[in-house]
Amino acid sequence: MSLEGEINLAVERLAEWAAPKPVEKNLLTIADEVYIQPEPLGVVLIIGAWNYPWAITLQPLVGAIAAGNAAVIKPSEVSFHSAKVMEELLPLYLDRDLYPVVTGGVSETQELLKQRFDHVFYTGSGSVGRLVMEAASRHLTPVTLELGGKSPCYIDKDCDLRVACRRITWGKFVNCGQTCIAPDYVLCEPSIQSRVVEEMRKCIKEFYTDDPKTFEDYGRIVNQRHFKRVMALMEGNTIAIGGESDETECYIAPTILRDVKVESKVMQEEIFGPVLPIITVSGVDEAIQFINEREKPLALYIFSHDKKLIKRVIAETSSGGVLANDCLVHFTISALPFGGVGNSGMGRYHGQHSFNQLSHMRSCLIKKLNMEGVNSMRYPPHTSKKLSWARFFILKQINVGRLRRLAMLTVFSALAAFVVQVQAIVFCLGFTFFRQHLHCCPNEIRFDNCW
Ligand code: NAD
Repeated sequence: MSLEGEINLAVERLAEWAAPKPVEKNLLTIADEVYIQPEPLGVVLIIGAWNYPWAITLQPLVGAIAAGNAAVIKPSEVSFHSAKVMEELLPLYLDRDLYPVVTGGVSETQELLKQRFDHVFYTGSGSVGRLVMEAASRHLTPVTLELGGKSPCYIDKDCDLRVACRRITWGKFVNCGQTCIAPDYVLCEPSIQSRVVEEMRKCIKEFYTDDPKTFEDYGRIVNQRHFKRVMALMEGNTIAIGGESDETECYIAPTILRDVKVESKVMQEEIFGPVLPIITVSGVDEAIQFINEREKPLALYIFSHDKKLIKRVIAETSSGGVLANDCLVHFTISALPFGGVGNSGMGRYHGQHSFNQLSHMRSCLIKKLNMEGVNSMRYPPHTSKKLSWARFFILKQINVGRLRRLAMLTVFSALAAFVVQVQAIVFCLGFTFFRQHLHCCPNEIRFDNCW
């Protein structure tokens, strides 16, 4: 649905996005055309990840096509069925020379990265992100890196825990926790920890039944390598809910860990699986400090009734995105730029942000060959008088929009004055006519008859 929405939006708004954008002028350029013209970058390499193989690979492609680029699409080999379907289907609908799909594994991606592209759009882990950036730097190719990290979720004690836990349970266990913006861990005060666990227990039962393993809406870990990785992260922690697993099926039950120690393994890397650790903090101050002592996350979640507290957390932390009182859904708002900051990535996309990210914003100034006199201040010999003229002309910014609004206001005022005058004349004429009529009419004729 998000892909469909992005495609519809691009089709609907493309003319507006691609249109030249006039910018503010100074006195020297007041008679000139000054604007930004988005233009295609050229050929974009899109390297997708496996966890949402369609959205993650094709959503950047929507932006690439809208911005007028060609693109080489490299779906993740980990979700190989999706990669195969993409390889078969895309050429049926898109020009295969402009948008070829390259399948294969690490060596194919490395081979692609040796080529010169005009932009590389990579989604995946930070470690591979570094390799991508290194390879791109050889050609001075700009990159967008959509990475991950540990996205914290702070639950304030002053909040509706039932609703908060429902939303967090959904956000954590959808796609079996393999979501880049899934809440990675919960921070809350010790006094509410047990209630949080109990509310989540109810939600897990409601969403996935008593036996998630046999319930068709509960997923699996993508492969055995990731299964082993996630299982290893759980070691040495107190399991409050779940913990069951089956390696043959890559099944890990929705799992909540309580009283997790900061130094435990599960807190050292992004979990990317259905395991949710709870770490207790003394309050919002410690939560903010905890978040700021770590890498900047891709998403930050705050659950609270207190708007002031929410604003404070936003002001005193940094993250790719922030969402209060819900999970994941900021991803669905095309108007919001989606991307990381610091270790969670660079660059942004979705809606017009994808178009801008994969366009070159070209500066355009079109002058005329007349009015040469104005330029004399820039030609030698340089004098202090010329310098002061130059200061005046160059530093004076003209806000054309404001000028236009002022002009409109003047026109409207003039029009209003004119209308008032016309009304006054009509009134005077009417009054004169009325008096004349009264004069000629006998007294018994009523006023409205006169009219
Ligand atoms: P992955 O293993 O599918 O790798 C991603 C891509 O990198 C693949 O296309 C693969 O071919 C390529 N690749 C892997 N190793 C490589 C190498 N050595 N050299 C060159 N290319 C290589 O995906 P992953 O890294 O397991 O993805 C999971 C990570 O992605 C998580 O950290 C998650 O948070 C992040 N992610 C981020 C977003 C986002 O939008 N920010 C979305 C989804 C996933």
